[in-house]
Amino acid sequence: MAEAGTLHDAFIDELRDSYDGEKQLTKALAKLAKTATSPRLRETFAAHLEETQGQIERLEQVFELMEEKARGKHCDGIAGIVEEGKSIMAEDFDETTMDACLIAAGQRAEHYEMAAYGTLVAWAQAMGHSEAAKLLQQTLDEEKAADKKLSALAEGGINQGAADAAHADAEEEPVAAASSAPKRSLKANRR
Ligand code: ZN
Ligand code: FE
Ligand code: FE
Repeated sequence: MAEAGTLHDAFIDELRDSYDGEKQLTKALAKLAKTATSPRLRETFAAHLEETQGQIERLEQVFELMEEKARGKHCDGIAGIVEEGKSIMAEDFDETTMDACLIAAGQRAEHYEMAAYGTLVAWAQAMGHSEAAKLLQQTLDEEKAADKKLSALAEGGINQGAADAAHADAEEEPVAAASSAPKRSLKANRR
């Protein structure tokens, strides 16, 4: 009978999963950048695409540290997120709404990656692979920063622009909706 796998085997498996996921994301980020209308959003996706190429190289360094061949294993999670992103891009939305949707799609990917790298860092630390943990932490920090940047763009005008287009006439605000959800007027009050 084959010996049961260890956490080290699971770690290598997860590295392969992330390696494949990052490769899928390089293609997806290029499409997101191309589809975005806001120049700052385009730049954000393009900058993260460049970062992602560095993350792939970082994973190759980790494979080398582990004395493993760098190879990917199909990441179903990112594949699903990429599929959803493609469906969104096929929709006929106005430009700002599309930008808001592209951010939503991008953040799904960043959160998935944050979960994956969070685990990888914790496992590497637990097993005493401190050099690998350091490299993986750098990527985790980049994913978190990319997520924050996308939130800042969404909350810094893109969501409101899309919302204004959805409700062009503020007077039309449905009274019933407003009274059932009093908190929703918070943002409107700030304007
Ligand atoms: Zn190990
Ligand atoms: Fe990444
Ligand atoms: Fe990322």
